[in-house]
This record gives sequence, structure tokens and C-alpha cells, in this order.
Amino acid sequence: MSTEPNHANVLRIAIIGGGPAGLGAAIALSALPNVRITLYEKARELREVGAGISIGYNCWKVLELLGAAEDVRGHLQQNVLYRNGLSGEIKRVKPAPSSVPLKYRSRRVKRTRLQAALISKVPPGIIQLNKKLVSIHDAGTQGVHLTFEDGAKTTADLVVGGDGIRSVIRTSLFPEHITKFTGTTIWRTLIPAKSLSHIHDLFPDTSWWHGPSGHCYFSLVDDPSEFLDSSTSSSSEQMIEVSCRYLIDPALDTEKRFSWGVPATNERVNVHFTQYDRRVRDALSRVPEGGWKEFSAFSGPRLERLVGWGKVVLLGDASHPLSGAFGSGAAFALEDGWILARAIELVTSRASSTFSDSDHDRQVIKARNIADALEIFNDIRSPYYRRMYEHLDSQKAKVSRAQTEAKSQSSDPTYIFESVLASRLEAFPVGDELSWIYKNDIAIIWQQYLRSKREARTAARI
Ligand SMILES: Cc1cc2nc3c(=O)[nH]c(=O)nc-3n(C[C@H](O)[C@H](O)[C@H](O)COP(=O)(O)OP(=O)(O)OC[C@H]3O[C@@H](n4cnc5c(N)ncnc54)[C@H](O)[C@@H]3O)c2cc1C
Repeated sequence: MSTEPNHANVLRIAIIGGGPAGLGAAIALSALPNVRITLYEKARELREVGAGISIGYNCWKVLELLGAAEDVRGHLQQNVLYRNGLSGEIKRVKPAPSSVPLKYRSRRVKRTRLQAALISKVPPGIIQLNKKLVSIHDAGTQGVHLTFEDGAKTTADLVVGGDGIRSVIRTSLFPEHITKFTGTTIWRTLIPAKSLSHIHDLFPDTSWWHGPSGHCYFSLVDDPSEFLDSSTSSSSEQMIEVSCRYLIDPALDTEKRFSWGVPATNERVNVHFTQYDRRVRDALSRVPEGGWKEFSAFSGPRLERLVGWGKVVLLGDASHPLSGAFGSGAAFALEDGWILARAIELVTSRASSTFSDSDHDRQVIKARNIADALEIFNDIRSPYYRRMYEHLDSQKAKVSRAQTEAKSQSSDPTYIFESVLASRLEAFPVGDELSWIYKNDIAIIWQQYLRSKREARTAARI
């Protein structure tokens, strides 16, 4: 048990998880005065196992606020092509948005790059590795007791759950909430781009090759300028990300599923894509044996609240288990941490005028401040995630309607596939359809929140 005294003036924050949510929160919160932060990560080393990640406008904006944007380099995405994966026909094109300044345009980035940029901005001494949280308990006015797998225990005033899709913190707060395998298996790898350079049309454009039960995705992940400056390049050659998905009916699934990053053989992957265009099959055949990592997608229903006990908050995938549905989960996770820091800053700056000599009183004020800050966080972020869930539900309903309609019109599998594909592709924004996600600017959201509170106070006085 930690013997640390409970300093009533210091906010003890325990962050669980060293993914984008935990690291972003550590950066944003450590800039506040009178905080003592520890980030606990279960892995022995901070190592990203995914391949690439798309960083768009919303993510650049929050990375800038965290001071980490400059170190994140990657492939500037130009056209994004959506193809019929069986015939190769281009069905939709998303052009690079000319109205968006270059530095805020979408880039496909190695996950390790994003992670390294975030870690470099976390003050030293905060991260503790090999610390798997097993449980938390509400300790009333003392805060929250945390217990780790190695037997270590500690107490915090505020617990930040950035522990991902299968969050222990979420299960502690909301034991009735359950995530399930969605039926989607994802295989991902990075291979040298030159090994696919003989295949026309795989790059430099990013491309999605859609089939009846999944897709294959190809994108470069490096900024070519990195290869001019050997001091910034972690690898001597340009890499391309290959990511393939296959969907089954989860009710029929009999396998044991691991959510994140287990090795898969080439045979296990390739068998699902034998009907695809020869360019896809050729590309898959070039992946070296041992290159694939398999991910099973898990998701769960929307949480009514993202906070609990007045002192525990869920960030990132822990708070909205959507299984990467919008391809922007890192941005959501980072935005969460930044808003949490603003909310704490706001309540503590208001409360600094409330002075008390007694440790007990200060402890009570601190607990009230945390609870108030978490309500502000919940007020801002919960409706945002509700909107995402609602959007996905309506999209799912559209695809299901298209499928029923196509089946009623014809029994030809090609006709049914093409009709469903047309409906599925509508979900991929080529313009500003989902600007509330992809053009989100979290600093503006915070300003809007402050303005709405000021206006409400003014209205109440009239
Ligand atoms: C296939 C796929 C593709 C995606 N593509 C994109 C994309 O292009 N762009 C994008 O922005 N997002 C993408 N996402 C989503 C993105 O990866 C996640 O939303 C993001 O990683 C969430 O960050 P997080 O920190 O909440 O969770 P995670 O990244 O999962 O991090 C959680 C951390 O907590 C640690 N942890 C877990 N349990 C414990 C415990 N008990 N004790 C201590 N530590 C613990 C884990 O080891 C891990 O380090 C994709 C997701 C998937 C599945």
C-alpha cells in the first residue's frame, strides 16, 4: 500500500493506459498546476502493434494543442479510391480537399510515429510500465483505491480510464455493460512499398478494394522527405500498409478471439480474398510469412455516462467502444484528454478563491471540484459520442434496407453485391458530410461551451 500522505492541495491523478487516450491526457493534465500524475501501462514497453493510422484535420488540431503535431510525419493522402474489389472498378473518388491548409490534410502515419511523438511530450517520471490494473474501489472521501496485478496498491483523487476497448475501469463503473466480437477480423501489416511497385494502381493513391464480406486497404505511410534526412527516418525504405477485413456472422463464430495483435499465417488471411482482383491477390502474396497481425473487432453499446463515482472518467475507446468505426479514434481519444484538462482547469481556477485552513475542508473542496469537472467533461463529450452511435445505426439500417431491396429484385449475387456496395460506399465521406467529426476543432468546441455557459448565466440574471 502506498504510504504517501494525502496532500489536500495536490490533485493525485492515476491514468490507466498508455495509448493515445492515456498519453494525451498525461500531456494535457501535466500542464496544470498542483497535480501529481502517474500513468500505469500494463505492457512491458510502450509498443504499438497496429500498422498505420490516419491523422486528419481533427487530430492535427488537438495534436497542435498538445505540442506534438510537428513530430508526426507520414504519407500525405491525395486521392482516396473506393473500388469494387472483385472487378477493380473505381466506384468513388475522394479528392484531397484543396480548401484545407496542407498542414491539416490527412496523412497516413505509422502508429509508432504517433506514439513516439506523444511519449516525447509526456514529462519524465510519469509513466510506469508493467503495471496491469486489476481493480478499483470507491474509497469515499479518500478517493479511489487501485490494485495492480503485481500486488501493488495506490490511491488517487481522480482515475482516468484510458485502458481501451476492453477497459477494466469501464467494467468497474458499469458492470452491466458488455462488449462483444462484432464478426469482423482485421489483418494488418507494413511491407516495403518496392515489393508492390510492379502492381499498377496500388499507390501512391490510397485505395480500398471492397468485396462482398470485407475489403483490402493499401496506403503508403511515410513522408518521402524523411528519406532525405537519415536522422529522422526510422526505416531506410518507404513502407506501405496493407490492411484486410473479413466479416462473418458473429453468432456462428466458434474461435477464441483476441482483440489486439496476434500473429496470423498468410494462408489464414489469403483464403478470404481468393475472389478479389488479381492485383489484390498479387499484393497479398508478397507479404512475407510472419508479417500479418490479426485483430478481432469488439464493440459495445453507448454508455449513458462517461464518468462515475464523482472521480472516475473514461476516455478514448474505453468510453465509446466503437471498434474504430470512423477511423478517427485517436483524435477522439486525444480530444477527450484535452477537454478533461480544460474542465479541471476551469473549476480549480474558480475555486482558488475558496480558501480554507483545514485539511478536511480542502479535501472536500477538491472532491467537489473533481466531480464538477467530470460533469463538464460528460456534458461536452457524451452528446458527441451519442451522435456517432446514432449515425452508425442509421447507416446500418440503410445498408440493410439496400440488401433487402436488392434481394427482392434479383437473386444474382453480383447484382446484390453491387447494390449493397453502393449503399456501403455512401458511408465513406468524400466531401463535408461528416464535418462534425473530421473537421472538428476541439478548441472551438471548448470556446462554444464557455460562451453557452456565459449566455445561460446572463439569461438567468435578466
Ligand atoms: C482496425 C482499426 C483501425 C483503426 N484506424 C484508425 C485510424 O486510421 N485513425 C484513428 O484515429 N483511429 C483508428 N482506429 C482507432 C484507434 O486505434 C483507437 O481509437 C485508439 O487507439 C484509442 O486509443 P485508446 O488510448 O483509447 O486505446 P488503446 O490504443 O487501445 O490503448 C489502451 C492502452 O491501455 C493499456 N491497458 C489496457 N488495459 C490495461 C490495464 N488493465 N492496466 C494497464 N494498462 C492497460 C493497453 O495496453 C493500451 O496501451 C482504428 C482502430 C482499429 C481497430
